[in-house]
Amino acid sequence: MRFKISRRNFLKMAGIATTGLMMAQLPNNQAASAAESSDTKIKYGGHDIPLLYEAEVCVLGGGPSGVAAAVSAGKRGAKTVLVEKGITLGGLQTMGNVIPCMTTWAPDSDTAFVRELKQQLENHGIDYNDHHEGSEVGIWTNPEALSLIYDEMCQEAHTEVLYNTVFVDAIKKNNTITHCIVQTIAGLRAIKANTFIDCSGDAILARSAGVPSEHGFEKTGNNQPMSFRFEMGGVDLDKVYQHVTVELGDDFCPTKPPHYEFAEARHRTRQYVLEKFMVDGIKSGELTEEDAEYMQAFAIVGKPGHISMNCPELPLQFSASDPLSYSRGVMAGRQMINRISQYFIRHMPGFEKAYLAKEASMLGARESWRIRGKYYMVEDDYHNQSRFSDAVARTAWFIDAHGEKVSEKLPKGAYYEIPYRALITNEISNLIVAGRCISASFILQASMRIQLV
Ligand SMILES: Cc1cc2nc3c(=O)[nH]c(=O)nc-3n(C[C@H](O)[C@H](O)[C@H](O)COP(=O)(O)OP(=O)(O)OC[C@H]3O[C@@H](n4cnc5c(N)ncnc54)[C@H](O)[C@@H]3O)c2cc1C
Repeated sequence: MRFKISRRNFLKMAGIATTGLMMAQLPNNQAASAAESSDTKIKYGGHDIPLLYEAEVCVLGGGPSGVAAAVSAGKRGAKTVLVEKGITLGGLQTMGNVIPCMTTWAPDSDTAFVRELKQQLENHGIDYNDHHEGSEVGIWTNPEALSLIYDEMCQEAHTEVLYNTVFVDAIKKNNTITHCIVQTIAGLRAIKANTFIDCSGDAILARSAGVPSEHGFEKTGNNQPMSFRFEMGGVDLDKVYQHVTVELGDDFCPTKPPHYEFAEARHRTRQYVLEKFMVDGIKSGELTEEDAEYMQAFAIVGKPGHISMNCPELPLQFSASDPLSYSRGVMAGRQMINRISQYFIRHMPGFEKAYLAKEASMLGARESWRIRGKYYMVEDDYHNQSRFSDAVARTAWFIDAHGEKVSEKLPKGAYYEIPYRALITNEISNLIVAGRCISASFILQASMRIQLV
C-alpha cells in the first residue's frame, strides 16, 4: 500500500506536532511485516550502501513529535520505521529531562495519542494529573516510565524502532526523497520509504533535502538559550515546600508535592521570591551572574526525593545551531550544574542530603532550525487566534522566548490553530516536518513548541 500524504491522512495519523492535535480516532490494525531487505544496494558517495529497511513511513527522531507520528502511522496500518540516535524515545522529554508537559489551555486539544499516553501513565502508576485548573503543567511525567511506555506503544503499533542510528543524508529523485542514509552500529545503511517525517527538532532531514530553513531571532541572530537540565536525588520535598511556599510566601506554584515546582528568572519583569536566594549566591561568590539568571525545579512523579532542575540556562554565546559552540556549551553547562547543585545542598532547606543524581544526556535546545514551509506562522497568528481550513492542531500556550519576549496569555477558552501547510514544503512532495522545527517564526515557535498536550 502506498501511504499517500494528504491533510486527511495526516489527521488520521495523529499527534504529529508537539502541540495538541485534533486527530480522528485511529483504527487498530494488523501489523505490516518487518522484513529486512539486505540484498539491495544504494549508490551513495561512491559506495554501495546496503538497504536496511523498506517502509511506507520513515520517521526521523524519537522525541514527543516523532513518537506520536510513528505510533499513529503504525496504528493506521502503515509499515513504519522510527530512527533515533539515542537508545530511548522521548527526545527532550527523557534524554533532556524535560519532565512536565505544559498544558495547551486550548479546549479539546488532546489527540488520540495523548489520550492513550495518559492512559498508559495511569496504567504504570504515574500520578500525571495535578487536578488544578490554574496549573501550567498538563502532564507530570517521569523519564524512565516514559521510556518504557514509548517502547511499549511502538511495539503495540508494530512500529520498528531503530536505536543508535543517526541520520546522515537524504537521497532524492526529482522532488521526492527516495532513501535516507543512516549510520548504524553495522555502518552506513539505507532506508527506503514512501513518506518521510522529519521530527529531528533540527529539521536535519528537510535541510538535507534542500528545504529552506532559518534559525535564531531575526533581530539578533541568536537561537533561544539552551539549558542543561539535571536531576537531584535525596531531596526532602515537603521541607522545600514548607520553606519556599509557606515561610517565604512564594505563590508561584498553585499545587503541592508531589506536584510541585519553584522558580526564579531574573530577566523577567516579575520579581520572583527566590531571586534573593540566587543573588545571595552571587554575592558570596558561590554562583556567577549567569548561574543565577534562570532557575526552575520540578518534582518528578514516581521518583520521591528527586527533583528535575530546568537549569542552568546557558549564556546566548552557546548556540543550538553551531556545532563547536554547542559542544563548548556542554562543558560550560557542566560547570554551572556543579556550582548550582552544590549551592542548593549548602543553602536550600530540604537539600541537606541531596546529591546530583543525573545529568541530561541531551542539551535542551528550545529552538535551533525551523523550515520555511507552504505556510509560515507568525506572531499575529497567536494574537489573532488564527483559524485555518487545514488546521491540524490548536494551542493557547503563551509566547515564551527566553530573554526576548514573554507574551500575555490569551483569554480563557481562546486558542490559535496550526495549519497542515506549516508542516509541508514546496520543494519535497513526500515530506512532513513535525515538532519544534515546523514552519514558524522565532516568536511564534516560542508558543507552539511545548510537548504533547
Ligand atoms: C530546557 C527546555 C525546557 C522545556 N520545558 C518545557 C516544559 O516544561 N514543558 C513543555 O511542554 N515543553 C518544554 N520544552 C519544549 C519541549 O521539550 C520541546 O519543544 C519538545 O520536546 C520538542 O519535541 P520534538 O519532538 O520536536 O524534538 P526533540 O524532543 O528535540 O526530539 C528530537 C529527537 O530527534 C532525535 N534526532 C535528532 N537528530 C537526529 C539524527 N540526525 N539522527 C537520529 N535521531 C536524531 C533526537 O535524539 C531526539 O530524540 C522545553 C524545552 C527545553 C529545551
